[in-house]
Order: sequence, then C-alpha cells, then structure tokens
Amino acid sequence: MYPLTELRRQILDEMGVDVWSLRDKSGVTDVDTIQPAARTQEGTRQPAVNNESGADWLSLQNTVFSCQACKLAKSRTRTVFGSGNSNADLLLIGEAPGAEEDRQGLPFVGKAGHLLDAMLYAIGLNREQVFICNVLKCRPPNNRDPQPDEVEACASYLTAQIESIKPRVILALGRFAAHRLLETDLPVYKMRENSNCLPGTNIPVVVTYHPASLLRNPEQKAESWFDLCKAKSLLEQSSP
Ligand code: SF4
Repeated sequence: MYPLTELRRQILDEMGVDVWSLRDKSGVTDVDTIQPAARTQEGTRQPAVNNESGADWLSLQNTVFSCQACKLAKSRTRTVFGSGNSNADLLLIGEAPGAEEDRQGLPFVGKAGHLLDAMLYAIGLNREQVFICNVLKCRPPNNRDPQPDEVEACASYLTAQIESIKPRVILALGRFAAHRLLETDLPVYKMRENSNCLPGTNIPVVVTYHPASLLRNPEQKAESWFDLCKAKSLLEQSSP
C-alpha cells in the first residue's frame, strides 16, 4: 500500500502531469485526505438514491428502469440511470453505456471507468461526491453511435436529472455528450477552448475527452488534465 502522496504522484504521472497543488481547498475534499475512489455497488444495480427532490428522483429512477420508449429497450440488459451523489456540485455526462455498463447497470465501469476514477481522484474528488450519467440510458448494440430518435426519446431523462441535481458545473465527457448538451457541432478542440454554459442556464459546461478516447490516445491526457483543473477552478469560484 503506497502512502497517499505517492499514490497521488502516480496518478498524476498517469495523467501526464508532473506537478500539481491545490490553489484553494475550500468547498472540496482535501486530495491528501480522501480515500481512492470507491466503486459502489460493483456488480449490482445502483440502489435508489433520494436527493432533495425525494420522491421525484425515485420516480425518475423507476421510470427509466422500466422505460420502453425507444428500440434500445429490446436489446439492453439493464438500464444505466447513473450513480453517485444526486445532490452533487459536479455532474459528469458521457455518451451511452457500453457492454460492461449494460451488464452491471452502472456507468463508467471497466478500464475507462478506472481511468475516470483516477482523473477524479487527481482533483480531490471521488464517485460519492459527483454524479455520473450518460445521454442515453441504454446501450446501443455493438457500441454503435446513438441514433437521433433514441437521443430524442431519452432526452427528457437527462433534462430531469440536471434539473433535479442542480449541478454547479457540468463536465461533458466526449464529443457526443458535448454536442448534445451545447446544441452545437463544433469540434472538441473548439468546445474545449470556449467558455460554455448549458443553453438557457448559467451552468458552466467544461468539455473534455471521453476516458475511452484517452485510453486510445494517451497523448490527450495532459489536455484532459487542463480541463479537469478548469472544472475544479469553476467549482471553487462558485462555492457559496
Ligand atoms: S435509451 Fe432511454 S428512451 Fe430508450 S429505452 Fe432506454 S431509457 Fe428509454
């Protein structure tokens, strides 16, 4: 077992970052005192989690659980509602469940999920402190791109999640989620450069690469680190 400082150094090395220190520890857990991200309910469905909206949140979970609103209902194993803190300040949104997510009913498991855990840990957060979900709640067969009718059918669930969680910052993981959230087709590099807000709100949307893309293109990790620091800084700036 490595000391936490050594573990942190290793994670930053993995992220392609040499040196890092907190600018301000207010509002978030100290990176040197938190435990490595725990994978809650590994291998099981995420249990019902109430937030301040209580029954509405539970009702939303149940609706998604049994949803048949698009053709993905026929091919999925499980719906993937999302997991984490349903009152989180930081909301992470990806594209759609993959094979392992479909099997476990949880978002971002497997190698990409472990990398996401490391990314969160590197900015002093873990899965219990954020909420993680996808634009689509069911897996497209063979991991094909989501189709417009599926995205349209599922859109109200993501909207309801955002309205219920009321995040202070959204981190869009990958091109698809960013395009959907920002209602644009700009390339990722342009969205990363821009100061984005969720349309119709003042919620900042930081765009970064999908963890699966980072696994294929490790040279993107340094840019991803920059994006995470930007999200962290926005969280700190919006602390009450
Ligand atoms: S992808 Fe969304 S709309 Fe389609 S069946 Fe799953 S939960 Fe329902």
